Amino acid sequence: MRLSRMYLPTLKEDPADAEIISHKLMLRSGMIRKVTAGVYAYMPLGFRALKKVENIVRQEMDGIDAQEILMPALQPAELWQISGRWYAYGSEMMRLKDRHQREFCLGPTHEELVTTLAREVRSYRDLPIILYQIQVKFRDEIRPRFGVMRSREFIMKDAYSFHAHRESLAAVYASMHQAYGRIVKRCGLNYRSVQAAGGLIGGAVSEEFHVLAETGEDTIIFCSECDYAANLELAASRWHLLPNEEPQPLSKVETPGKIAVSDVAKFLDVPSSKLVKTLLYKDKSGELFGALIPGHRSVNPAKLTLALGREVALLDKNEFNIYPQLTYGYIGPIGLHGIKLIADTSLKQLYNFIVGANESDHHYKNVNLERDFTPDAWGDIIYAEEGDICGQCGQGELRKLRGIEIGHIFQLGTKYSEKMGITFVDKTGKPKPFIMGCYGVGVSRLVAAAIEQKSDERGIIWPISIAPFHVHLIAVGKDEKVKETAEELYNNLLAEGVEILYDDRSISAGIKFAEADLIGLPLQVIIGKKFLETKKFEVKERENGELTEVPFESIIGWLKDKIHSEVTPKETRARWIKIAPFR
Ligand code: ATP
Ligand code: MG
Repeated sequence: MRLSRMYLPTLKEDPADAEIISHKLMLRSGMIRKVTAGVYAYMPLGFRALKKVENIVRQEMDGIDAQEILMPALQPAELWQISGRWYAYGSEMMRLKDRHQREFCLGPTHEELVTTLAREVRSYRDLPIILYQIQVKFRDEIRPRFGVMRSREFIMKDAYSFHAHRESLAAVYASMHQAYGRIVKRCGLNYRSVQAAGGLIGGAVSEEFHVLAETGEDTIIFCSECDYAANLELAASRWHLLPNEEPQPLSKVETPGKIAVSDVAKFLDVPSSKLVKTLLYKDKSGELFGALIPGHRSVNPAKLTLALGREVALLDKNEFNIYPQLTYGYIGPIGLHGIKLIADTSLKQLYNFIVGANESDHHYKNVNLERDFTPDAWGDIIYAEEGDICGQCGQGELRKLRGIEIGHIFQLGTKYSEKMGITFVDKTGKPKPFIMGCYGVGVSRLVAAAIEQKSDERGIIWPISIAPFHVHLIAVGKDEKVKETAEELYNNLLAEGVEILYDDRSISAGIKFAEADLIGLPLQVIIGKKFLETKKFEVKERENGELTEVPFESIIGWLKDKIHSEVTPKETRARWIKIAPFR
């Protein structure tokens, strides 16, 4: 492509409403343009990068015998009413009515629809089957932000597998796991896979794939010693052992106007780890629960929900008026009748701690378990923190990283097939609901995540595998001979199938160089007056700024070597199919 013909509207300045680097650079390099909040158009440069990622994903799916289909974005409400998710999805679902007032949604995901497509699988002999699509999804996110990273319309690869038994699901899940790893690696990115919470999609076993980046919205917890890695949402932890203490006599102390943990701790001259907070939660039926945690930690709502086996919400300050026995700011476990108490397991080793006295301006000191109160249940209900002991190996310490979730895989089981009554005939001739898995990649998010991980102060640094073009040819100056040589090289490289962007415009060299660094193609070939003397091209590698002088005769071979050494060779595909365990 000639730059003089290309629609590449670049911006010199950072756009005001872009917070993170990928969003800024995607706008500045003319890859995307905003249509409305959380809705973007892909411009020519952006669309090329998107297609590159899409094709890697497609190759890896085809490589494990997943079959590509295309389902509609427009889905009838009935499908979601049968599964029960029409209501559960809430306001994240984009809903609409047709001219006959029939209800529809724009698919946030496709479990329901794809399950109905499996209706014609008759026998266990036809299983497993994996179907996938690369298609647009709609989610009315509360806070669409960061450009295509969290948008309301985005492109997802979603795959679904159907099985006769659990072992088959586990095998396909494992080959998906491998394929996902290869996808991110082939995109040239550092990543980690972590244990994840199921969320609205459901299922017991699930893992997320995260591209590592400071600006990632997710926190990943991993062990310094073993392979434990999990999303902070569910990461387990243990505490370092604390010394035993001699229990002291319980006493009530005045703490006038002191409510916040830090204020009480300061007032009583103890570290905040000596305090135990009691937080009140309410379930849907209105039943109250008290969650006891160390003063310097916070409740992890997802873990609390798991431990209690039900959804709960923190009691609002205003709601305290409804319950005359509750004293806001001074809640504690002693004498808190009629409220079930769940305590974090870390408290088991605490002695002589401080709790609220259920009376204004008072706390209890030297509280000890069993002697002064006994919780109804124990559970791991706090957020894991850096430095905690690993819950899996009990040896290593936990560390934190920030990540961008670009993929999520689930072993679903029969959740959808059962509710929707979609069955196959098993070995004994009986109808059975399919056992299912589902597997998503945020294709458009992956493009943004790549830029988030790979850029510098001048612009994007594309990994060669997903770069919109491989080579950026820059002709400098007005010399006719230079122009002729550049034209010749451009045509030869095109003929060789090299993806090349040729800056043939009559503008200053400074602007050309700045723009080349901004859009970040991996190999810049520069030809100016110097070439006429040396007969050598100057090649700059965008990633490390390395300059190489390459003679006229060998430039094509040199560039092709660079490009092919980075792109995964074709023959590995056969190997991937062999690795993937089936049936
Ligand atoms: P998140 O926690 O970021 O909202 P999710 O758990 O809702 O993600 P899934 O339902 O697992 O996401 O969807 C599969 C993939 O689709 C995600 O791993 C992510 O890469 C991508 N994705 C999800 N929501 C968005 C969005 N609003 N914009 C862009 N990509 C998204
Ligand atoms: Mg989401």
